[in-house]
Amino acid sequence: MRPEIVVDLAAIRHNVRTLVGLVAPASVMTVVKADGYGHGMVEAARAARGGGAEWIGVATVPEALRLRDAGDDGRILCWLTLPEDVEDGSLARAVESDVDVTAYTVERLDQIVASGANPRVQLKVDTGLSRGGAALADWPALAQRAAEHQQAARARITGIWSHFSCSDEPDHPANDLQHERYRAALRTAEEAGLRPDVRHLANSAAAILRPQSRYDVVRVGLASYGLDPAPGHTPDLGLRPAMTVRAPLALSKRIDRGEGVSYGRTWIADDATTVGLVPVGYGDGVPRHGSNAIEVAIDGVRRPVRGRVCMDQVVVDLGGELAPAGTPVTLFGPGAHGEPTAQDWAQACGTISYEIVTRFGASSARLVRRYV
Ligand code: PLP
Repeated sequence: MRPEIVVDLAAIRHNVRTLVGLVAPASVMTVVKADGYGHGMVEAARAARGGGAEWIGVATVPEALRLRDAGDDGRILCWLTLPEDVEDGSLARAVESDVDVTAYTVERLDQIVASGANPRVQLKVDTGLSRGGAALADWPALAQRAAEHQQAARARITGIWSHFSCSDEPDHPANDLQHERYRAALRTAEEAGLRPDVRHLANSAAAILRPQSRYDVVRVGLASYGLDPAPGHTPDLGLRPAMTVRAPLALSKRIDRGEGVSYGRTWIADDATTVGLVPVGYGDGVPRHGSNAIEVAIDGVRRPVRGRVCMDQVVVDLGGELAPAGTPVTLFGPGAHGEPTAQDWAQACGTISYEIVTRFGASSARLVRRYV
């Protein structure tokens, strides 16, 4: 075997189907930005459609166009538009191919309207993340302008949406505050004469933990890939992690007591032991923060990574045993056979499982991606 990322598309279908059932009558938008959170954007989107996702969500216009080029003709929402998208015609192509594009300033709204006939536009309001979206102070003017475009049949205002900052902390007061601001923004839009097809606010954690925030659509990324969006809070929904990363052992050997392992000798053997070399490193997506912290599994037995994660290799402690070159090593996976999960790695590295799986996306060029 070669080092590989195995993506279980049936798991994505199952997860999306489960979420569709959970949030009905709201619809599911599966989020496939950043190469489908590392799972492969086009394949993940296809699996999500198979599981009943009415919508697909992406961050960028080029991502939306790639999905259209791959034959996805369902509803797609894109949340960022850059001046370059206007200049190089990408925005016009997105509008022409009926992608819903997001406007968050009057200037961008006017650019979208100018880029094609009767575009599908969703308006985003910033209710407290202070990231994308119109500032609350600018919202009435944006809603007013959008209503004018709609009345003049220059644009279809198909949605109004916002995004939580703390949905993985269900008791955080920001959730209620943002929700209240979103309600107020909807009232302002209604007073301006807007009647969007879809209102949406919830990501994975909110979709699962805050039913009152589901509105017409939920934008679900992480949970579609079977990962827990709010560890410690999420009920067991039977979601199945879709990504497994595996590699063959390149070498195993004995080392003496007192020998240091990997750059900087940050781990010293306090007894004679055996180590195994796994030919995958931070150049492939293994976080360097996993040095002396993460584990892998061989035949279902956890083996700790010793010393620093290198660019192309990590060293694991085999506890005195030797194993033949080629022995399969599971770096992380669903966790059903003793292997660590992406969440285990995230915890060990002080990050979130989003980052762990996304690191194994398109930029992980040396690993073979295999779909099952
Ligand atoms: N909506 C927006 C605007 C996002 O940026 C993201 C991802 O970060 C999502 C929804 C999906 O979030 P999650 O993966 O937590 O479901």
